[in-house]
Amino acid sequence: MNKLHIETPLIESLLLNKSDSSEVWLKMEALQPTGSFKIRGIGHACQIYLENGAKAFISSSGGNAGLAVAYSGRRLGVPVTVVVPRTTNQRAIDLIENENAKVRVVGDSWNEAHVFALDLSDKKNAYLHPFDDKHIWEGHASVIDEVYEAGVKPDVVVLSVGGGGLLCGVVEGLRRNKWEDIPVLAIETVGAKSLHTAFKAGKHIGVESISSIATSLGAKKIANRAYQLLSEHNIYSHLVDDTDAIRACNSFLDDHRIMVEPACGASLSAVYDKCDFLKDKKSVLVIVCGGVGVTLGQLKDWSAGACLH
Ligand SMILES: *Cc1c(COP(=O)(O)O)cnc(C)c1O
Repeated sequence: MNKLHIETPLIESLLLNKSDSSEVWLKMEALQPTGSFKIRGIGHACQIYLENGAKAFISSSGGNAGLAVAYSGRRLGVPVTVVVPRTTNQRAIDLIENENAKVRVVGDSWNEAHVFALDLSDKKNAYLHPFDDKHIWEGHASVIDEVYEAGVKPDVVVLSVGGGGLLCGVVEGLRRNKWEDIPVLAIETVGAKSLHTAFKAGKHIGVESISSIATSLGAKKIANRAYQLLSEHNIYSHLVDDTDAIRACNSFLDDHRIMVEPACGASLSAVYDKCDFLKDKKSVLVIVCGGVGVTLGQLKDWSAGACLH
């Protein structure tokens, strides 16, 4: 079956690179048809569930994961229901409905929507978790296959972490291309530091609440598998402020003319500001994870709120 994601450009950025002795490579997931990398894993998982007889897809995400499920359902001719909490903004609902998916607004938090969505799911109605599913990781791994095939071997992969689905996929991709020696720099914002909290504690704990504008990073606890990988793979955790993430979104828009969510700006800011872990790295690969939860007006408002511009 044809894949639902596209092979994205891999471009070298001279503008994100503050020194001339190293290279910065951008894997442009912002250019996926759904605006983020999510379609890699979710598209792959949807195809597997369809082969296994699913008659409908259920999602509980009003963000990029929900949009990826809606897109996959439309492409595969499978009806989709996305359950979202009342906090979800109208634009996100419109984007999902635009893919012909049905949106149901239930509960005051993601957790309530998630419980309701699980209730709707059974053998015939496949539930697509936003990050905790081995089929999703297997699909996300294709992002590394493409870099491998392009013949660019980085010294480090920089990526953003919410629930850790992208992290699990990238490590799987590194392993299946025999690149398991390449470390991963896992970026979160201070207000969404679920991986950092577990990493520091050496225990699979999470955070009580999320207080970051990088809403796509807002998982209170990372997936089990992501926690396991912290002791199996060379993963380094780094935090940035919301302000740094917003500043990086603006710089990236100027430098590469592509708009991304603060969730993605977080990773870009670690590269723009060359955080310590990157100092001795000759070749840096950044997963430009993208995200549709941003408009020019919103970016301006966030920037004003953070006293930028
Ligand atoms: C989902 C998402 C993330 C976080 O991915 P996880 O798999 O939850 O760690 C980061 N950035 C964007 C734009 C996303 O949509």
